[in-house]
Amino acid sequence: MDRRAFLRTMRRLEARYPTEDWARDMTPFEILVSTILSQSTTVANERRGLDDLRMAVGRITPDRLAAASDAMIARAIWHAGLAHQKAPRIRAVAQIVLDRWGGRLEDVLSHPTDRARMDLLSLPGVGPKTADVVLAMAADHPTFPVDTHIARIARRWGLAPRAEYETIRKALERWTPPAKRKAWHLAIIAHGRVLCKARDPRCEMCPVRPDCDWYRRNRKGERARATKG
Ligand code: SF4
Repeated sequence: MDRRAFLRTMRRLEARYPTEDWARDMTPFEILVSTILSQSTTVANERRGLDDLRMAVGRITPDRLAAASDAMIARAIWHAGLAHQKAPRIRAVAQIVLDRWGGRLEDVLSHPTDRARMDLLSLPGVGPKTADVVLAMAADHPTFPVDTHIARIARRWGLAPRAEYETIRKALERWTPPAKRKAWHLAIIAHGRVLCKARDPRCEMCPVRPDCDWYRRNRKGERARATKG
């Protein structure tokens, strides 16, 4: 897919999937905790873990989580999976945010993108994807976070020669205007959930199939044969 096709495709997807900003009513720290919880699990299980954690501590703040025990956090976030790995990370992150930045993640996010990204990456359990989600969703930094849906779809569109996170992110950022990165990130995820699924993508219903490399390679011939037959 070339740049023009990508821009055409993204305009179509943006129109089809209105932006659903899941982070709209959350604090930056809640977004960070939610993103750590979302690692290796489904959205539904992450949400359940977050809700249960909120019930257990009252409000998800650095001071409350730093004061909680690993065991208590693990019990609360059980539905999000890997609770015994995630709980100590979340507690350690809370302690660091408290000690280093006075509990104000907002201050970290007010820095230029590269510096804010470095600060987030210094936290335990925070890799490039988690850092980029927090930057984009909590403070509208012009990053393009890459999750499993986006990585799969970028490969299907032939956007990145390799499957590494940074290669895909840079490919998407190169062609996406900074002001559109968050909206297009969310639109591709929605497309991955609804139509462009990992197994058996629903190409026959897909509005962007004329520009899709994967469709041209794998399905277009089949369709023409079926029509003739
Ligand atoms: S045509 Fe198929 S593979 Fe291509 S984006 Fe649409 S659903 Fe995904």
